Amino acid sequence: MLIVVNDPTHVERELLAGRLSCPRCEGELRPWGHARRRVLRMTTHDEELRPRRARCSNCHMTSVLLADVCLYRRVDEAAVIGRALLEKATGAGHRTIAARLARPKETVRGWLRRFSSRVVALREHFVRWAFALDPRLETIPPQGSPLADLAEAIGLATRAASLLFGPRPVWSWVSAMTGGALLSNTNSPFPAPR
Ligand SMILES: [Zn+2]
Repeated sequence: MLIVVNDPTHVERELLAGRLSCPRCEGELRPWGHARRRVLRMTTHDEELRPRRARCSNCHMTSVLLADVCLYRRVDEAAVIGRALLEKATGAGHRTIAARLARPKETVRGWLRRFSSRVVALREHFVRWAFALDPRLETIPPQGSPLADLAEAIGLATRAASLLFGPRPVWSWVSAMTGGALLSNTNSPFPAPR
């Protein structure tokens, strides 16, 4: 899977021009049909997606090109899941958050548990990105809780990314910076800053 910008026309052009690289070996990706249709639950409505699939001309691995509004294996939009984290970081409970987001409370509790169980590694990851993207950044003051520290690191890293590369929504940067695996139980490392 490769996280791409949420602009199918642009992605298609990049793919046809050979400008997308294989996430495994950096080989050139070529068009390879489409992945199955899926529904993405946005803040206010559902949207049907049919992501493009590509195949590496070097290692032959196929990759689904997933728009950055998505997270791997999550039905809900990254921004909705992100808002749950921000509300939790400011002290809201999972029931309140679930009601505000109009999502089942078990779903929200699952997201928050996943965030909590990986909070240190996630924070370190976004701190690395923040320092890599903003050379003027010196220290990041503690925010009072591990989740608030994570939210702060995400804020700094994504703001720096938008200033450097052009504006993109916060949770789209988060999806890109984690290779879509923000909430995944994976052993593979997140994409490192470069
Ligand atoms: Zn490859």
